[in-house]
Amino acid sequence: MSTGDGAYLRIDHVSKYFGAFQALNDVSLEINSGEFVCFLGPSGCGKTTLLRAIAGLDIQTSGRIFQAGRDISALPPAQRDFGIVFQSYALFPNLSVAENVAYGLVSTKRPKAEVDSRVAELLALVGLRGQEPKFPSQLSGGQQQRVALARALAMSPGLLLLDEPLSALDARVRQHLRGELKELQRKLKVTTIMVTHDQEEALAIADRIVVMNQGVIEQVGTPLDVYRHPKTAFVADFVGQMNFLPVERVSTDRVRYGTTEFLMPSSEQAVRDSGKSALCVRPEDIQIRNVAAGQNNTLKVKIDHMEFLGSFCRAELVVEGGSHLKADFSINAMRDLALEPGQEITIALPVERLRLFQVESHV
Ligand code: ATP
Repeated sequence: MSTGDGAYLRIDHVSKYFGAFQALNDVSLEINSGEFVCFLGPSGCGKTTLLRAIAGLDIQTSGRIFQAGRDISALPPAQRDFGIVFQSYALFPNLSVAENVAYGLVSTKRPKAEVDSRVAELLALVGLRGQEPKFPSQLSGGQQQRVALARALAMSPGLLLLDEPLSALDARVRQHLRGELKELQRKLKVTTIMVTHDQEEALAIADRIVVMNQGVIEQVGTPLDVYRHPKTAFVADFVGQMNFLPVERVSTDRVRYGTTEFLMPSSEQAVRDSGKSALCVRPEDIQIRNVAAGQNNTLKVKIDHMEFLGSFCRAELVVEGGSHLKADFSINAMRDLALEPGQEITIALPVERLRLFQVESHV
């Protein structure tokens, strides 16, 4: 059966129950051929369950999944077309690197010459040429994950599934391998889904991010989209750093915190007026330089403390009324303005960078 709409993978109203617990709630999603998509969300949000449903490792309770126009909803994993890499390497400990990579090719009885040349090609691709005779226990974590990747790609699958493949690695190896993975995916153009709870990883690697929370998709978009235009308070909070300031609505384009009124961008004016609202601004968007008297959206704050983070400082600001804001100031701004804890300063919140959400939990 054809999906008829050009998407390589189509997830259609998929729900999954474990007993009475609903892990996925009516999830629909389309992934295009060659895309690198990250499922991002906190622990328990259902991202692994969705990946396992796509692989056929845990069949969904309801809904359907189509891959390349084929209804794969009820197929066992062996009849689906994917390669998978898990967080825990999952290599065969008693097989050499070459034998691990060759495993799928050998079990489908490919000629030896073809297997040997494919293994050599794959090991070169993941930067492990010359490691053929070693066993997994003789490799570092990063090398083991490269072998797992080569093994997953051996059968030239239509879909590459990655379940937190970098989580067990230390920060430097992780960052390095992340870059290599992206480059490899670009080269091979294999449609790829990676599960991660690490928002920085998702922002760095994905063509599109699927942000999940409590079994539902909160937002699907490019990294820039999701970061700049979060659709919900959850996404705003989960992806990147975000400040939430409790405000009341004054008019269609104004909100108030204490006695200070803020002008909102036109995109935020349609917000409903019932319930509590939070004005959201990213730490790096808070303006400290050239704040003019009479300028819109200024706020007097006191610097509570500052954290030096290498290329910038993250300042914790206390606003009159007791709310706190995080602001990222460049090292140059810190020096030029001689900023230090205890100091009272005036900041500005640029209109075009403000978002407004109806929320209870953050205010
Ligand atoms: P994590 O990053 O912690 O793995 P996740 O987003 O991948 O989180 P899932 O593994 O998809 O989360 O699990 C979603 C929910 O379903 C969790 O509450 C989990 O406890 C539950 N769950 C997953 N597998 C099972 C199972 N086999 N039996 C019962 N509950 C399960």
